[in-house]
Amino acid sequence: MQFVYMFSEGNAAMRDVLGGKGANLAEMTQLGFPVPQGFTVSTAACNDYYKENKVISKSIQKEIFEKLARLEAVSNKQFGGTHNPLLVSVRSGARASMPGMMDTVLNLGLTDDVVEVMAQDDARTAFDSYRRLIQMYADVVKEIDKKYFDQELEFVLKETGIDSDHDLDLDALKGLVRRYKVIYEYHANEPFPQDPRVQLMEAIEAVFRSWNNPRAIYYRKMHDIPESWGTAVNIQEMVFGNKGEGCATGVAFSRNPASGEKMLYGEFLFNAQGEDVVAGTHTPLTIDQLEKTMPEAYQEFYDLSQKLEHHYRDMQDMEFTIEKGKLFMLQTRNGKRTAQAAVQIAYDMVEEGIITKQEAINQLDTQILEGLLHPQFDEKALSVADMIAKGLPASPGAASGAIVFDATTALKYFEKGTPCILVRLETSPEDIEGMHVSSGILTSRGGMTSHAAVVARGMGKSCIVGCSEVAVKENKTAIIKGKTYREGDLISIDGSTGFVYEGRIGTQPGLLSDEFKTLLTWADELATVKVYTNADTPKDAAKALEYGARGIGLIRTEHMFFEKNRIRAMREMILSQTTVQREKALEKLLPIQRQDFVDIFSVMKELPVTIRYLDPPLHEFMPTTTQEIEELASIMSMGVSDIKTVIRSLHEYNPMMGHRGCRLAISYPEIAMMQTRAIIEAALEVKKTEGYDVQPEIMIPLVGDVKEFNFLAMRIRELADKIINEHELSLNYRVGTMIELPRACVMADQIAKSVDFISFGTNDLTQMSFGFSRDDAGEFLRDYDRLGIITKDPFASLDTEGVGQLIELAYHKARSIKPDIKIGVCGEHGGDPRSIEFFKKLGFNYVSCSPFRVPIARICVAQTK
Ligand code: ADP
Ligand code: MG
Ligand code: MG
Repeated sequence: MQFVYMFSEGNAAMRDVLGGKGANLAEMTQLGFPVPQGFTVSTAACNDYYKENKVISKSIQKEIFEKLARLEAVSNKQFGGTHNPLLVSVRSGARASMPGMMDTVLNLGLTDDVVEVMAQDDARTAFDSYRRLIQMYADVVKEIDKKYFDQELEFVLKETGIDSDHDLDLDALKGLVRRYKVIYEYHANEPFPQDPRVQLMEAIEAVFRSWNNPRAIYYRKMHDIPESWGTAVNIQEMVFGNKGEGCATGVAFSRNPASGEKMLYGEFLFNAQGEDVVAGTHTPLTIDQLEKTMPEAYQEFYDLSQKLEHHYRDMQDMEFTIEKGKLFMLQTRNGKRTAQAAVQIAYDMVEEGIITKQEAINQLDTQILEGLLHPQFDEKALSVADMIAKGLPASPGAASGAIVFDATTALKYFEKGTPCILVRLETSPEDIEGMHVSSGILTSRGGMTSHAAVVARGMGKSCIVGCSEVAVKENKTAIIKGKTYREGDLISIDGSTGFVYEGRIGTQPGLLSDEFKTLLTWADELATVKVYTNADTPKDAAKALEYGARGIGLIRTEHMFFEKNRIRAMREMILSQTTVQREKALEKLLPIQRQDFVDIFSVMKELPVTIRYLDPPLHEFMPTTTQEIEELASIMSMGVSDIKTVIRSLHEYNPMMGHRGCRLAISYPEIAMMQTRAIIEAALEVKKTEGYDVQPEIMIPLVGDVKEFNFLAMRIRELADKIINEHELSLNYRVGTMIELPRACVMADQIAKSVDFISFGTNDLTQMSFGFSRDDAGEFLRDYDRLGIITKDPFASLDTEGVGQLIELAYHKARSIKPDIKIGVCGEHGGDPRSIEFFKKLGFNYVSCSPFRVPIARICVAQTK
């Protein structure tokens, strides 16, 4: 088995083996682009390293040195050589891009001897590179805090009276190298390694280890990246953007990653290396300034960026270095972007004829798109708000919250449920968790490609960077326009404009742009799975229609009974001692319920409307406070103690598994009859008055045995047909069930014989399959998460492994009886992209989700990636 590949041996399709960075470096090599050559140690080698208890096996070491020899031959340089020495970078790169999460070491191969050899040619570059190597190596390999080195640098800068490390002269750099080596030796307990091969192996190991550093673990979790993938390591010949005149290094996107506008968008620094641009420690120049100073290199880079975009059929995020006027490409990948940009780019690239509609839909990252529906500031509130500062609009969306100055405090606020805005000089990868839990991020330093900006965009989180008017102080205060702000003070930020406001500003839901609406209609053309909505009111239904829902997959009828005037009739019904009493109480509910359905049918017109019959245990409707009980007693002319007795009698040890769902209607069929009458009469009324051929779908919950269903369905159909006949009209109604018990899954073939449709109630199915209650699981699921037992909340994203098998079984059993039976899902999972993926693959007819998730779901069902 091959573990190490020359760039010239790979290509973009080998991403799993070479990681994203390695595969794309290989691809650019194949395309004949100017890429410094090198080789990639595969992800399999990383896994092998962990399997061997963190040792790189002898045979892989041998392969690495063989490939190093080939690189020496290709470059005509010698690693550790006494003339024309080869320096390399050691760069991490997993299958999925994880910007800034893992480690890179530059200028490897420099030693006290080699630096002197290199110095004969260019002393300043030699020592500048050496000091960078020592610092990075200390950080990455030995985990020595960067700050010890930064302190030395500060000291030397002060001593020489120079502003930036880029301007240090040779003597200063030599002095810095001397100091760095002392610090290194002090903290590492050994001198800086003088054998380049030792440097190389140690750096490779460190990159392997960085796969499991806390921020990488956190990032993986956030983005669903499996631990088992491992990272690859790229060893690449160094090129030098720090060789003085005619040298630069930078990053650029082929389109604006914040707005999507078609333009080369990027930042660079003259006479610099690597991390200087993204670390936020130097303020970079915008890419158009490169056009002015190095027009040829700029033009070449521009041309390559266009070629790459066409080649990868997506917006590219590229890294480059210019050494003495010569351009080198160091990386390309599909660029991360804001939701707005994603929509604009996908739309434009279809219009420009670069990609197909299907490719445009596939290009959209649904996790990020959710940001589109994120709130915007309320226009009115905004017009009277106090704008106190302006920075760069790095990631759009409006956010208000309490100021916090560090990631740990952000977590504390998050745990208290208080929204906060993380305000920092600049962010670093350690801050990632705090950034995730903050409502927004504001930094006073950094450009549009700084860490804060890139990470916030990846999270779809509101972010402003480079806001120099906000002076963040060591003592956890910020001074803005002369006023001091402390932790807990409220501010608001608008990541779309870069404006910072004092106080809290109200927000309103985001609107869909015309481009997004067009993409959604393309998605509808391509999708086979329909998107329904869960809506209990005409207002929700109308909202969902606006968002493009094609039906209602779930009306929870009990929600209709909680309003003040209704709950009383409901309680009367529950307190009834006899069927006659109960029917009388239900008569009061009938017109109310009928009107609800009239309103909803009028909104939904000829689209299917799935109505679930009363589901929750009855105690949920009873009052809990003494005052309410007393009120009820007087209304019902009953004794308080009698009511208390009834409430006690309704008490169940496991209400989730108690007298609920179809069991209620089986004990009290008159409830189901009232609901049937309300639905059918409402449907007929709307049909008659408005002429719509309404499509009611009656759904019986929590069926575990087909006999339960048959018992109710027979009575429902009998009554429905009777009413329809009386009206001398026709009506297309269906009676189906919700499958939400494991037993129902196993018996789905029998059930299918009786039902007109099936909808999976995945909330209950998850609860009943795992055997843990969704109301109580939160606490121990947190332990499970920490211990790595269950790391994904199965109530938010379907447990495809376990619960998914039950669904699959039921699906196939049902289809084996009725090949065309309508099958959908109406749990929370119907709006979760990963779960939708699962339902789509199985062949569901629809997924149903809450109105605001409908647009994203429409994209999900159309994706074929
Ligand atoms: P990250 O994944 O954090 O972006 P990279 O491996 O891309 O880390 O390295 C960071 C930066 O280091 C690059 O953007 C580039 O500027 C610089 N770099 C990496 N390899 C080389 C090289 N061979 N020559 C010159 N600069 C390099
Ligand atoms: Mg990079
Ligand atoms: Mg249920």
